Amino acid sequence: MFRRKILIFLFMFLFSLVNLPAKGNLNISNSASNMQTTSKFYESLLKDDNEAFLTLFLTQMPKGGDLHHHFSGSIYAETYLDWISKKGWYIDKCTLHIVKDKNGGKCELLTPAQVLQDNLVYRKLLSAWSDKDFKNHYHEQAAPDANFFDTFSYFGAISHEYIARGLKILKNRALKENLSYIETMIGRVYVNKKDYFNKSQIANYDHLLVVAKTQKDVDKILEKITKIYLKNKKFNTTVFDYISKLNSYHLGIDDSHFLMRFQTSAVRVLDPLSVFTNLLAGYEAAKKSPLIVGVNILAPENNPVALADYTLHMRMYNYLLRLYPKVHRALHAGELTIGMVRPKNLTFHIRQAVEIARAERIGHGVDLPYEDHPLALLKEMKKKVAVEINFTSNQFILGVKGDQHPYLIYSMYGVPIVICTDDSGVSRDNLSHEYLILASRYHPTYARVKKYVYNSIKYSFLNQKEKVKLQKDLDVRFQIFEKKMAMLYKKLLLQK
Ligand SMILES: [Zn+2]
Repeated sequence: MFRRKILIFLFMFLFSLVNLPAKGNLNISNSASNMQTTSKFYESLLKDDNEAFLTLFLTQMPKGGDLHHHFSGSIYAETYLDWISKKGWYIDKCTLHIVKDKNGGKCELLTPAQVLQDNLVYRKLLSAWSDKDFKNHYHEQAAPDANFFDTFSYFGAISHEYIARGLKILKNRALKENLSYIETMIGRVYVNKKDYFNKSQIANYDHLLVVAKTQKDVDKILEKITKIYLKNKKFNTTVFDYISKLNSYHLGIDDSHFLMRFQTSAVRVLDPLSVFTNLLAGYEAAKKSPLIVGVNILAPENNPVALADYTLHMRMYNYLLRLYPKVHRALHAGELTIGMVRPKNLTFHIRQAVEIARAERIGHGVDLPYEDHPLALLKEMKKKVAVEINFTSNQFILGVKGDQHPYLIYSMYGVPIVICTDDSGVSRDNLSHEYLILASRYHPTYARVKKYVYNSIKYSFLNQKEKVKLQKDLDVRFQIFEKKMAMLYKKLLLQK
């Protein structure tokens, strides 16, 4: 009898072992079925044009990272007013600019609290400090691209006063939208060239750089400038100070489910020596700090200086790539469209960013349809270069939307795509809204939307170990999300 019991026990034990993989499979098949049901739910929302529910769906959906956004342009005007109040500064009622001194300004000075009480002034301020109400009603306004870029001159005086606070706001916003990573363009490492060169030297270097015809010519000049900067103690101290400030702003941001990294940048509308100075200092900072993962170039691409020096800037990147092979490169390129510049300026910006600057990611890439040999370029990008798509920003600044947007071409040719916000404070939106535009306009499959989310980790500038960690975290987030959505969809079907 006892032996029989033991035999039954052994049999059951062995049976349970045989069944173990089946149990595992059950979980996997559950996840697979949740994913399929979630996908059906998503398709049904698209079919019904149910934008409100689609917003709910995409807000809850894990979105990985936002790889293209600017710190100051991502903070809302309301927050800046709080900060101005904290500083005890004012708003000039006529110009709507910040005034730090109570004896300054052109007109009556208002405290932020007084601005909030005067609805007319408050609404005027919001429309000048962001894109708010630009299209809602007629009012005196600048051209859209000017309105957009001018906003920075309004909040510029306050935007860098509370960086640590601002980063926490961006993190909290990201967490509420189910993001696990953001790569923020935080501003340039400011080095004043006048501390290193006299007036005639500056004029000479600017002239030599402008007339340099080849990469070799540019390299020679840049080598000289680089030597002067790198051997100077002050230059290295400036870079070191920038890093230590950034470290202090970043304190307490990273945790086991969220990471934040930074890109520095150069401003492409400045003279050649200033642009290179920004870039070199940015590369040095990125080399020395694991928090700084890339160096970008920004400001309006249709600016006359930006247009004239475009190839020169790409050559600066090419030179720096050889000097700093480990520093990543994402570049604003092709943020242009027909009518904005002469047609010839639409034909080469993305290509040069890919081939000369060796960009790993292209920011915007909107003028692609006008590029020379676009199909060859797409083939090249498909292999190694991701494109950062910013729908709202492109629609506002360039007027490019719907079927005009090259998203359609990039997706057709398999170029890696990431969905980003650019300046959500100015545009007054968030990443979920960018996904909403993607889904409601172009109806990509759920699998494709998920791919873009995973791309935002894959094409980030994190190191391999961090990427693996965040990819695993994303797997778990999607399992939870899809389980919830599958349950919700089944419940909704039962109610029908
Ligand atoms: Zn941008």
